[in-house]
Amino acid sequence: IRGAGTWKSERVIASRQGPHLRLAGGGAGILNFCANNYLGLSSHPEVIRAAVEALEKFGAGLSSVRFICGTQSIHKDLEEKIARFHQREDAILYASCFDANAGIFEALLTPEDAVLSDELNHASIIDGIRLCKANKYRYKHMDMQDLEAKLQDAQKHRLRLVATDGAFSMDGDIAPLREICQLAQKYDALVFIDECHATGFLGPNGRGTDELLGVMDKVTIINSTLGKALGGAAGGYTTGPKPLIDLLRQRSRPYLFSNSLPPAVVGCASKALDLLMENNAIAQSMAAKTQRFRSKMTAAGFTISGKDHPICPVMLGDARLAAVMAEDMLNRGIYVIGFSYPVVPKGKARIRVQISAVHSDEDIDRCVEAFTEVGRKHGALP
Ligand code: PLP
Repeated sequence: IRGAGTWKSERVIASRQGPHLRLAGGGAGILNFCANNYLGLSSHPEVIRAAVEALEKFGAGLSSVRFICGTQSIHKDLEEKIARFHQREDAILYASCFDANAGIFEALLTPEDAVLSDELNHASIIDGIRLCKANKYRYKHMDMQDLEAKLQDAQKHRLRLVATDGAFSMDGDIAPLREICQLAQKYDALVFIDECHATGFLGPNGRGTDELLGVMDKVTIINSTLGKALGGAAGGYTTGPKPLIDLLRQRSRPYLFSNSLPPAVVGCASKALDLLMENNAIAQSMAAKTQRFRSKMTAAGFTISGKDHPICPVMLGDARLAAVMAEDMLNRGIYVIGFSYPVVPKGKARIRVQISAVHSDEDIDRCVEAFTEVGRKHGALP
């Protein structure tokens, strides 16, 4: 791995997660632009207090899976809250969204069925699909002509499921859900979306991509995470029709054979959802910040992939340039990470910047200034 130049080293943070960090071995006052802490709830005082209260009242953990003796009232309350947030019938908790994605396809689909998956879907969707015995179709990224052709071919199967990320984390682009739902209706298919990079902040009330694109009643199944915008601790879930959730409780292997979510983690997510459901100001605070960064960087001469999403990939092309620039950004107190092959295609290296609602305008401007200096120094800008 080292020989291929793709070894990943981890920087060590010595403070809480947030827009301003301290790194181990020095480095205080670092501006953080690479967490999925979209709403800044990871270290929100009310979220932390809710975790402490849940820890004291319900203990450190359940030492059990859910169906043996691992279900507490807080697990049921959180599932009910998640379903209400997404306006779905029911929800089921997992230790992570990776688990939710690993469990759903095998439980739902048989060899008589078909799953149609966007080629750039998250690794956990790809792995979940690998585990199921359904017929597999991979359509070109967000290409509706290709999806339609594959749906036509899949008519011979009993049931069709179209699976897509709501927002794609490497490119910051948003799936064309309106068109996907139209095609699904035309060819009698179900729609599944992974909302890890949408829940909490996309759409007028932060419900996600389906709310943003006006198709909340057309998407059948949502998987998402509690480990990003919703407090950032850990955990994932599926929400959708009650019979599907009932089926998952009986058949989904990561649910049946893995420990229950720890109470403190449940407390964090539950409080994050309360904050979001109380008013939509938090969810709405994202858009202006995202717009500020995207427009200032574009004006400076950079190419930012995607549109209207707080994931803002600064496209550089060359892997070495991305790595060297990210390192030099840290020398200027800005924590960003370069992504190169195999995480993104060869020749499409980038620095992925993630905007959070708790970045100030000054934070964003400092980041743009540092990019401009570093970009000029390394020849990414004229
Ligand atoms: N799906 C997508 C699109 C993700 O980005 C991630 C996390 O990186 C996951 C699933 C997995 O989520 P979790 O961290 O809850 O396992």
